[in-house]
Amino acid sequence: MQRHDKLGEDEDKNEDTKGFKTMAIKSSSNARKGWVSSWVSPFRIVIIVFVLVGFVSIMITFLPLKKKKDEQIDQLPRNVQLLMDESIDPCTDFYQYACGTWIKNMTLPNDRSRYTRSFNAIQDANDAIFHDIVNEKWPLLSELYLSCMDTNMIDVLGSQPLKKDLIAIENAPDKASLFQVVGELSSRSSASFLIDTGIFADEKNTTIYSLHVSQGGLTLPDQEYYTNDTRFSLFKPDLTTFITKLLTLSEWNSSVDDAVQDIIQFEIELANCSMKKELLRDPLLTYNPQTNINTTNPLLLGHFFVGAGIPLTKESTVIIATPSYLKLVENLVNKTPLEKLKTFFAYQYISSVASSLSTPYRDAVFELFGRKIQGQATPRPRQKQCLARVDAYLGELLSRYYIQTTFKLEALTLIKSLVSDLIDAFQTRLEQASWMDKETRSAAVTKLHKMTALLGYPVERREYPNLALANDKHFSNVQQLIHYHHLRAVSKLGTAVNPMEWMMDAHEVNAYYSPMANQIVFPAGILQPPFFDPAVNPAQNYGAIGMVIGHEITHGFDDQGRNFDGSGNMHPWWTNSTATKFNSRARCISNQYSSMVVRNDTSGELLGHVNGAFTLGEDIADIGGLRIAFEAYKEHLFPSKMTLAMEKLFFLSYAQSWCTKATDQSIKAHDVHPPPKQRVNGAIMNNEEFARIFVCPNTALLNPQEKCNI
Ligand SMILES: [Zn+2]
Repeated sequence: MQRHDKLGEDEDKNEDTKGFKTMAIKSSSNARKGWVSSWVSPFRIVIIVFVLVGFVSIMITFLPLKKKKDEQIDQLPRNVQLLMDESIDPCTDFYQYACGTWIKNMTLPNDRSRYTRSFNAIQDANDAIFHDIVNEKWPLLSELYLSCMDTNMIDVLGSQPLKKDLIAIENAPDKASLFQVVGELSSRSSASFLIDTGIFADEKNTTIYSLHVSQGGLTLPDQEYYTNDTRFSLFKPDLTTFITKLLTLSEWNSSVDDAVQDIIQFEIELANCSMKKELLRDPLLTYNPQTNINTTNPLLLGHFFVGAGIPLTKESTVIIATPSYLKLVENLVNKTPLEKLKTFFAYQYISSVASSLSTPYRDAVFELFGRKIQGQATPRPRQKQCLARVDAYLGELLSRYYIQTTFKLEALTLIKSLVSDLIDAFQTRLEQASWMDKETRSAAVTKLHKMTALLGYPVERREYPNLALANDKHFSNVQQLIHYHHLRAVSKLGTAVNPMEWMMDAHEVNAYYSPMANQIVFPAGILQPPFFDPAVNPAQNYGAIGMVIGHEITHGFDDQGRNFDGSGNMHPWWTNSTATKFNSRARCISNQYSSMVVRNDTSGELLGHVNGAFTLGEDIADIGGLRIAFEAYKEHLFPSKMTLAMEKLFFLSYAQSWCTKATDQSIKAHDVHPPPKQRVNGAIMNNEEFARIFVCPNTALLNPQEKCNI
C-alpha cells in the first residue's frame, strides 16, 4: 500500500526480497474482462479498421520519402543513431523507430523478465558498486550479505527456522489468540495476514502519521487472477504446486491435499471480498477513518494489532481503504473453523519467508513468481539476489556508502536549474489552460508554488541500534531487520510528519511524487546517464530527465494528485465546473489508452490491451511531462531557436530512455504504468509538436486529430 507515484517498478526488488506485499501492487494488462473471448466484438472491429486505415494511408503518403535519408538524424550523436531503426515510420510507431535496432540486437538475459536500457544499465553498474561495498566489511551490510551467500548453512537448516513459529500457530487455543500470534509474526516478516498495513500521513491532516489498513492476503498479484475464470485456470495448477511444496517441506500437521484445497478456496473467497485495483486508486473512496475498531473488527484488527505491538483503544483512529472487505472478511473468519484458519495462516507465513529458507523453498518461489508469473527462464545468480536483499532491508545504509563513491555534487546545481525550468514551464501551461476557470487556475498555481523538491540523497541519517546480525544466520538477520523497520514505523504513529523523510533510497533508479507532502523526489540513482549527463547536448537531458521531472510534477495534478492541496491535505479546491471538464479530459485519455493493443515486439502475437482506467494517473503524467519538458527546453534556448535536429533529438532521447526487452508474461503483468511501447507512443500521439517536427500526416496513427491532455 502506498500513496506516492513512482516513475517505474523495480523488478529486482519485487523478485524475491520484499515478498508478496510488494507483489500485490502488481497488475495485469488483461484487466479488460474477457478481451480474449470478445475478439469479434464491434469495438474490436473499429480498432482493426482504424489500424488498417492508418497503415494504408501511411504507405501511400510516405513510401516514396523513405528512400530519402533523414538529414537531421545524420547530425545526431552516433550512440543515439545506433539504437534506431530508420526503416520504421516514426509517425506509425515512434518507439520502434527510436529503439528498433537496440531491440533487435538485445537478447533478454535468462535471469531477467524485463530489461530496460536506461534503468537496468544503471542498476547493473550499481550492483558492481554494491558488490565492492559489501566486500569491504561494512557493519550490518556485510553480515547480511554473507549470511545470504552461505547457502550451505541455509540448506542444512532446512525448515528448522520456521518450527517455533509454526508451533505457536498450531497451539493457539482460540481465534483471538491466533490473531495475536499472527500479529506478532507480521512484525518480523512480510506476511500479509489478510490485511496490508502502512503508517504514513493522514490524508486530511498531513502533519500527523496515522495507521492505514487495506485488503491483503492473496498469493497471486491481485483479485482478478482469482475472479477471472480464464486467468484463474491458467494459474491454478502452479498455485496448487506452490502451496503443496511449501506445506510438505514444512511438515505442516494435516493432510496436505485437503489443506491445499482449503487454502485455495479461502483465497478465492478473499478475492471475492476484495476491491478492484482500479477502484483502489481513488483517494476519496479509500479514505475511511474509523474508531471503535475492537468492536467492528475484533479479530482482523483488534487482536491482530495487540500481537503486532500496536494496541488500539476505543478512540484510536484507523484509516481504512477497503471497509467492505474488512466487514466481509471478519464474517468469513468468524464462520471458518479454527483449524482451517491455522492452516491458512501457517501457509501465509511460510510463503512470506520462503525466500530466506533453503534451496527447495526458493525454487518453489521462483517457479511460481519468476517463471510462471513473470516468464523468467532462470533465477538471478545468488550474488545478485543477495545484493537485492541488502538493498531491500538496508537500503538507506547502503546508499550512504554509494553516495560517497559515486555522486558528484556539481550535478545538483544543474538538476536544480532543470527542476526550476520545468516548474516554470508548468506554470505557463496552467496560465494558458483556458478550460480552467480563474479560481481553480489560481489555486493550482498556489499548489505549484508550494511544491518542494528533494534531490540527490537525504540529509538525515537513520540509526541502527540493537541489531546483532551474524554471518551464519540469514533467517534471523532478515527477521531482525523487518522487526527494526516495523518498530521504526510504529514509533512514528501519532507524531509529527517529517517533511524531509525520503520514501526511496538514494541509489534507486527511480523518482516519485508524494501528494501528501506535495513533493517531487529525484534520488542520485536516476541523476546519471542515460537519464542525465552534464556533458551531453541539453536536448538529451530535457528529453530524458526533463521529461521525468515533468512527469512527477504533473502527478500533483493528475486524477489522484488533484484531490490534494498545496499543503498535501485532501480537500476539494476545484470548482465544480472545472472538475467536470477535468473528468471529461481524463476520460479522453483513459479511453484512448484502453484502445491500445499490446503485442509481442517480435512475433506480433496479441497480448491484450492497456487498462486505461488503471494506468490513468501515469498516462496523464507522461503526456503532461513530455509537453512541459519540451516547452522548458525551448525556453532554455531562448532567444536562440531549436534546430530541427535538436527537436528530433529531444523526442528520441525521451523514447530511448524506455527501450525495453521483456517476456510476454512480464508485459501482461504490468503495473500502474502501461508497457514501454504504449508509454512512449501514448505521450507522443498527444503531442502536436511531435507531429509538426516529424511531419506526420493527419491520418497517421501517432497524429490522431483528437488529442488528449489535461
Ligand atoms: Zn508516475
